[in-house]
Amino acid sequence: MPFFSCPICGLSLISDNRSLRCILGHCFDISKYGYVNLLLSQKSSDKRHGDDKLMLSARSRFLERGYYLPLLNTISESAYKYINGNAEILDIGCGEGWYMAGLKNFLESNGIVSEFSGIDISKEALRLAAKRCKGAKFAVASSSSLPFSDKTFDLILNVFAPMTESEAVRVLKPGGIIMKAVPLPRHLWSLKAAVYQVPRENKPLNNKDIDGLSILEQIPICYKFHLASSDEIADLFKMTPYYYKTGKEDQKKLETLSDLSVEAEFLLLICRK
Ligand SMILES: [Zn+2]
Repeated sequence: MPFFSCPICGLSLISDNRSLRCILGHCFDISKYGYVNLLLSQKSSDKRHGDDKLMLSARSRFLERGYYLPLLNTISESAYKYINGNAEILDIGCGEGWYMAGLKNFLESNGIVSEFSGIDISKEALRLAAKRCKGAKFAVASSSSLPFSDKTFDLILNVFAPMTESEAVRVLKPGGIIMKAVPLPRHLWSLKAAVYQVPRENKPLNNKDIDGLSILEQIPICYKFHLASSDEIADLFKMTPYYYKTGKEDQKKLETLSDLSVEAEFLLLICRK
């Protein structure tokens, strides 16, 4: 089982009753919801919000409907292909744990019992993740300062979340795998076209994000899914950043739609350290 490392001194945090403690005495309480907060406030004054409740509940409902299962299935099958037996797995920016739970179930049904850890800056998301993924360990932490020792993990999963490549590489074992999912330029195009007069494409992946890793595979996952009610459309919109950047008038445009076919266009990038 990988240990969290102390965000102050970097030494291992050992379980001590309902808290984690390093030998220098730095102590962090485990919340009753099943995560530990290792985010030091002085390091994160400007970005400790994370995904808010409205976004999280919309995203949970949307994901449970299965529209992103093709992405989850590709992640699961690829992980199965690249890990050798039981593995230490870290999800960077795990959110509510939907992908982690799916991957965990898939591996277990194929006889592989792995250890899962997840970090996110949203406490609310980790509360849901801890419920969904029993036995996994969760910490509130920033992807730019991962609370783990060097060379801890066999596999890192990173789905639409910020990841600092040098940190990810640091905590990965030599030969370890990073699986990173990003949206392609036209992901959710019809949704954007329904809201904006001039929809804009997503920026392509910056190759600097994977500098220093060998790319093993780049798997595009492109398909259309059909949202059959205005509630489903609203959930998809509210789980994207667009909703929160869009004026009331534009937000209302979607309320008049009763169904919508939408493009899912992802790229799953698989790299080796
Ligand atoms: Zn310490």
